[in-house]
Amino acid sequence: MIRAIGILLLFALLTVLTQIGGLVYLISLLLNRTWKTRFPVKLFLTFATLYLLSTFLFVPLLAPVFGREKVEHTASIRPATYLTVLLNRNYVRPELNRLLAQTANALEGTPIAIRYLDANFPFLDRFPLAPHLSHHDGRKIDLSFVYETEAGQITDRRKSVSGYGIFTGPEQGEPDQPATCREQGHRWYGSARYLTLGRINRDLHFSEKGTRQLIDALLKNRQLGKLFIEPHLKQRLGLTDPRVRYQGCWSVRHDDHLHLQL
Ligand SMILES: [Zn+2]
Repeated sequence: MIRAIGILLLFALLTVLTQIGGLVYLISLLLNRTWKTRFPVKLFLTFATLYLLSTFLFVPLLAPVFGREKVEHTASIRPATYLTVLLNRNYVRPELNRLLAQTANALEGTPIAIRYLDANFPFLDRFPLAPHLSHHDGRKIDLSFVYETEAGQITDRRKSVSGYGIFTGPEQGEPDQPATCREQGHRWYGSARYLTLGRINRDLHFSEKGTRQLIDALLKNRQLGKLFIEPHLKQRLGLTDPRVRYQGCWSVRHDDHLHLQL
């Protein structure tokens, strides 16, 4: 009984984290039962081999059936952390890949690179990519803000391992949406602070100029439907395009990353 609960919990966890991991785990259990040879960490090795084969070989081949493909990497488009790729959170519709490529073109000659965070899983619309409930259809992707060093030099480094959870909060005189949401009882609004996986590069600052340039390049794409950023940063960066929106208190703060969608 306890073993069954353990299997179920691990299946659920792997599914939530990677979409395919739970299924790969069940297949590994079945294989393990039929394959009699015993050796240490047999189940783990079976799972790891099958998972890596699936992630890097089978899933990219199957995803186009569901209208999705991997985010295409170039010199200026890369994941902020390779975990995103390892966990199969790097799938988008081809139009979104084109939007990113056009944005990178528009930024050519600047020091600004596109560092993406969670996108979507490879399969099935309405299969949510936790903790972002809206990333379920291949049309959404999160991007890292642009940061700069103390000397004002733009860098492609970030301030947390995951790329999430380090907020550039409201300053005096700016709208304080996080406080408003907190007062309205939305306790999860600031929950990304638990998802940093560790703080790094404490010397870096939010780059107003760099982030504004990145957003301007994104807004040049007509396919861009909406871009979410916290109201105080919208004001600070002087963003007036109607596609720059506020996501609402039921979502999470967007002063640690940008969210965009087709
Ligand atoms: Zn998002």
